Amino acid sequence: MRYQSTRNPSTSVTPQEAVLNGLAEDGGLFVPSEPLSLLKPEDYLNRTYQETAEKVLSVLLDGYSSAAIRRSVLSAYDSRFTSPEIVPLRRISDGWLMELWHGPTSAFKDIALTILPHLLSEAYAEEGRDDTIAILTATSGDTGKAALSGFADVPHTAITVFYPSDGVSKIQKLQMQTSRGRNIMVAAVKGNFDDCQRMVKTACRSEEVLKACHHVTISSANSINIGRLAPQVVYYFTSYAKLVAEGAVNAGDPVNFSVPTGNFGDILAGYLARQMGLPVSRLICASNSNHVLTDFLNTGTYSIHRPFHLTMSPSMDILISSNLERLLYLESRDDAFVRSCMEHLQQEGSYTIPKEMLAHIRTVFAGCWTDEESCREEIRTLFETEHQLIDPHTAIAYHAMHEYQKETGDQTPCIVLSTASPYKFAADVLNCISAESPADPFDAMQKLSAISSTEIPEGLAELRNLPIRFNTVIENQDGIAFIRKRMEELSHD
Ligand SMILES: *Cc1c(COP(=O)(O)O)cnc(C)c1O
Repeated sequence: MRYQSTRNPSTSVTPQEAVLNGLAEDGGLFVPSEPLSLLKPEDYLNRTYQETAEKVLSVLLDGYSSAAIRRSVLSAYDSRFTSPEIVPLRRISDGWLMELWHGPTSAFKDIALTILPHLLSEAYAEEGRDDTIAILTATSGDTGKAALSGFADVPHTAITVFYPSDGVSKIQKLQMQTSRGRNIMVAAVKGNFDDCQRMVKTACRSEEVLKACHHVTISSANSINIGRLAPQVVYYFTSYAKLVAEGAVNAGDPVNFSVPTGNFGDILAGYLARQMGLPVSRLICASNSNHVLTDFLNTGTYSIHRPFHLTMSPSMDILISSNLERLLYLESRDDAFVRSCMEHLQQEGSYTIPKEMLAHIRTVFAGCWTDEESCREEIRTLFETEHQLIDPHTAIAYHAMHEYQKETGDQTPCIVLSTASPYKFAADVLNCISAESPADPFDAMQKLSAISSTEIPEGLAELRNLPIRFNTVIENQDGIAFIRKRMEELSHD
C-alpha cells in the first residue's frame, strides 16, 4: 500500500517512509492512496488485543513485513499496561467506557506512542539509514509525556517537546519536566497549543532549520504521523468485539462511538475503522467550549475567529484540528480543494465546504459541545449514582452522547472513549465530586483514592519525588531559532 499527500496525489511513499517523515514535503498529511481492505469479522472477533492489532496494522501499514509488525505490537502492548486486555471496556448503566488510559502515562496517547518508536525503528533499519531522526512534538498536555516516555533512549532518535506554558495541568507539566532519557528535550512556549503546533509545522519546512540539519531528519510524533493514527484504529475493533462477546450486540449490528476530540486524530481513526468494514453507525464528535468542530459539523464553515478558552479538558483546547484535513481529502478526493481550504484557513482563518459534502459527512459524524458546568455535572452524577470516576475529557464525550441521544432519539448502543485516568486531573475531578479543592495535586490524588477506593497509577504517584530536569520557557517567536539550535546540536558527520 502507498500513501500520498492530501495536497498532491502524485506523491507516493511507502508506509515506512510516511512514518519516518511524519508530514509530507508540501505540508500536507499522508493518506492511503487506495481504498482500504476490509477486515473479516473473524479477524477481530474473539481475538486478543495483540492479534487484532496485527490484523489492523497489516492493512494500514501494508509494506512493513509481518514480522516487523508482530515485533512492534508485542514490544508495545506488554506488561507496561496495567490491564492485560490493554483497552478494557467497562459497562455503565447507559453505555460503555472504553478505557484507553492503562498505559505508562495514564492517557490514551500511550496506545499509539508505545508502538510508534518501534515502527519507526523498524522502518529505519529496513531503509538502511544512518541519520538521527529528530522528533518534534507539540503537545496540549498528554502527547508530550507519552512521546517522551515512548522515545526515551530509543537509538537513532532524539525528541523535543513543546507545550503551552499556561495550558497544561500541574500534573501534566510535572510529568514532562521530570522525564528521563538522554535524547530528550522539553520547552514551555508562551502561547497556546495552536502556537506550538504551528511552530513545529513551520520548522519542518523552514529553510533556516533545514540548513542546520546534517544527518538529521525531522519527523513528528503528533497525530499527523500515520504511525500514530494506525494504532488508534485497533481499539475500535477490539471494543466492538467485546460488545459482541458479552452479547450486547450481534456481529454486524451497528454501534456508535462518542469521542472527546481535539486534533481530530482519535475520531478519524474511528472513521478509518468504518472504512475497513467495522459496523460503525455514528461517530459523535465531542468538543468543550472551544467548539470549532461542532460549528463546522453544523454549518460547513470552519472558523477560528472566536475566543480561545482554557478548560478542565486541556487536551481538547484546540482551534486548529489538523487531522480534519485528512477527512476533507478522503471525502472529496480533490487535492486542489484541500489546498484551497488550507490556504483560506491560513490567510482568512476560515473556510467553507460545499453543502453536499457537509451532508455526506453528517451521515457519519455528529457534533456536540459541552460547557464546564455540564462537564462537572456529568462527573458528579456518574460518581454519585454508580461510584464511577471519569476524567473531564471523558465527561465531555459522555455528555455529548446524552445530548446526541436526546436530540436524535438514536438508541444504537454507544461506546464512550475514556481518554485519561481521572488521577491525571485529580484536583478538578475531586472538586466536582466533593467541593474540596486542595492546591497540591498529590493531596487531591490521595483524597480521590480514599473516596473512590481506586489506586493512584504508579507513574503519577512517583512524580512527587522526581527531580525537575527541564524548566526552559521560550517566547513564541523564538521557536524557530530554538529548533535550529537543537538541530545543530544533533547534527553529525
Ligand atoms: C489528545 C486527547 C484527546 C483528543 O484526541 P485527538 O486525537 O487530539 O482528537 C482527548 N482526550 C485526552 C485525554 C487526550 O489526551
